[in-house]
Amino acid sequence: MMELHILGTASARPTSTRSVSGSVFACQEGLVIIDAGEGFQVRYSKQRSRMKREDEPALLRPNRIVAVALTHGHLDHTWGLLPFLQTLSLDGRQQPLIVYGPTSPEILDTLKTDGIDATVPLNTASAELLNQYRSWFTLGGTSTHLGYEIRWMLGEPRSGRWVEFIDDASELIWHDSMPQPDAFNTFRMDSIPTHHSVPSCAWQLSRRERKGTFDRDKAALAGLSQEERKTLSEGIDIEQKNGEVLRASQFRGASKPAMSVVISGDTAEQSIQPVAPVTVLVHEATFLNDAADKADAYLHSTAAGAARTAVGCKADNLIITHFSARLRDAEEAIIEATEVLGQTCGLASANDGDRVRIDENGNAIILKASESGWTQHNLSHH
Ligand SMILES: [Zn+2]
Ligand SMILES: [Zn+2]
Repeated sequence: MMELHILGTASARPTSTRSVSGSVFACQEGLVIIDAGEGFQVRYSKQRSRMKREDEPALLRPNRIVAVALTHGHLDHTWGLLPFLQTLSLDGRQQPLIVYGPTSPEILDTLKTDGIDATVPLNTASAELLNQYRSWFTLGGTSTHLGYEIRWMLGEPRSGRWVEFIDDASELIWHDSMPQPDAFNTFRMDSIPTHHSVPSCAWQLSRRERKGTFDRDKAALAGLSQEERKTLSEGIDIEQKNGEVLRASQFRGASKPAMSVVISGDTAEQSIQPVAPVTVLVHEATFLNDAADKADAYLHSTAAGAARTAVGCKADNLIITHFSARLRDAEEAIIEATEVLGQTCGLASANDGDRVRIDENGNAIILKASESGWTQHNLSHH
């Protein structure tokens, strides 16, 4: 099972009901924060209190957080990170944490050639994550200051080249592929290139297909010995004395499908190349069709554009978010996305606090936040 808590659904300018970006991915192997715009820690602790009221106190325990994954450097996605990290420190965190963020090939080349103190090229955007990392290091975002191990990584999603700032950001080490959080075993996370005015990526959190579990009841009913059960559970067939063969596959339940969530961050309409089947695509839909020219100019998407991306990557479900403050009612965005999607893809718009849950069989539902808790909705197929 996996769950995504969508804690901010505004674009860069928040409204009275929508805050800037920030989500929490939850699975049994840990939590991953995807983006943390200003005020993120407040939204996180509110969501946690709500969960406690619903008798689900453990799910969002901060010491379960294994990673923070940034989609890009715009401040509506990053400005809440350092305060959040400092609160984790005040709470006495001991567990290590990895922070991932995308950068450009030019920045990586400069770091490669000139080392940790490299000067960024003149044309570098002010929202470049290397600039932000450096200011955060200065402001206390290091292992020594925070009191827990923090691993800062910058990478280039297209090439898979990643650099890590080690020893309180005094040295660099290079990775040929993105290191995974230690706690991840059946889950993994991958950065997928997107197209925005600064280096950007989507994040895919996936679990690989799993074999069904050994059917103990069936084995017991068949009167099999300990030894035989062990052999079959290891996937080895047994040839019996009478020549009959006990097949391991007959004692195994149905396999669990691969599943994943992709969170786009900000991006122009484009085709994305996921690394695993997409169960839920959470995509920005900053504008409606009447502002498609603005979407093009600022490298954002319309709701219809998000839907075309969902169709292109064969997503089972699409959740639209990151709405312009001008949008009065997300229902308009839903109507425009529906015109593109057809029958095959589930669809919903997100509000702050909504949860998207995918069960063991890859079925997704949305839990819509309300004053009194959450109400469960199917992702409607239009
Ligand atoms: Zn944004
Ligand atoms: Zn942006």
